[in-house]
Amino acid sequence: MIAVTGKSGPCAGARAQGPDDPYLGLSAEQAIRRAIEDYGSNLAVAASMGADSAVMLHMVSQIDRNIPIVFLDTGKHFRETLRYRDELIERFGLTGLINITPDHDRMLAEDPKGDLGQIDPDACCDLRKVRPLGGFIRKYAAQITGRKRYQARKRANMPILEPNGPQVKVNPLAYWTAGDVTAYMRKHDLPPHPLLSLGFLSIGCQPCTTRVAAGEDERAGRWRNTAKTECGIHYINGKWVPVPEKKTSGIFQDGIRPVRS
Ligand code: SF4
Repeated sequence: MIAVTGKSGPCAGARAQGPDDPYLGLSAEQAIRRAIEDYGSNLAVAASMGADSAVMLHMVSQIDRNIPIVFLDTGKHFRETLRYRDELIERFGLTGLINITPDHDRMLAEDPKGDLGQIDPDACCDLRKVRPLGGFIRKYAAQITGRKRYQARKRANMPILEPNGPQVKVNPLAYWTAGDVTAYMRKHDLPPHPLLSLGFLSIGCQPCTTRVAAGEDERAGRWRNTAKTECGIHYINGKWVPVPEKKTSGIFQDGIRPVRS
């Protein structure tokens, strides 16, 4: 295992003890470089173009501008998010943007009125996010995410190198604080998501995103007034597991029932 560095600041490595994690102790930049070494062309960045996506995209652009950047266009994003995507890609000179969209025929069949998110958000996320993204990104051995531990209680124990079924997720910013993010944004003069200043601290699809009040979790505005907190991965018995492709009446076909907190 790699030793914890004990440094502080935005580029510090993991500063707390975590689960067995081969990337523990690496700074964010080191984790990205290590992932490139370990997975080569079998690696993609999953970018939500959310509140602080500029950090991860900028960092990646400083290392390799040609890494595939996978963005899931659910058809329900804020227009500001799509504009932000285009701005960041152009500004950082990233060449590998891949825009994934849900299957048109499935959308017509399963969400003909476009209101499934209000009726059954799990089914809507399954249709618009899990299946299209899972079907595509599964071909990579590893994906880099911008997720952080502090964002939500369910991410509190997230390692940097996170097993994810046959794939791994690399979370270079896992141990970053909100202050680290702000400091990096300022240091590199990065543009914030335009909705951030309006109180949207975590930004997903428009119908399922609300402003966050002082003292709330950063992700409290997502799927507000429901038990849902994540879109494509469920937390079961203390472990992250990928969502199976199909489910029936709230019970996945393999018999695993999603746990809600
Ligand atoms: S976040 Fe909302 S609108 Fe977007 S896919 Fe999930 S339920 Fe549907």
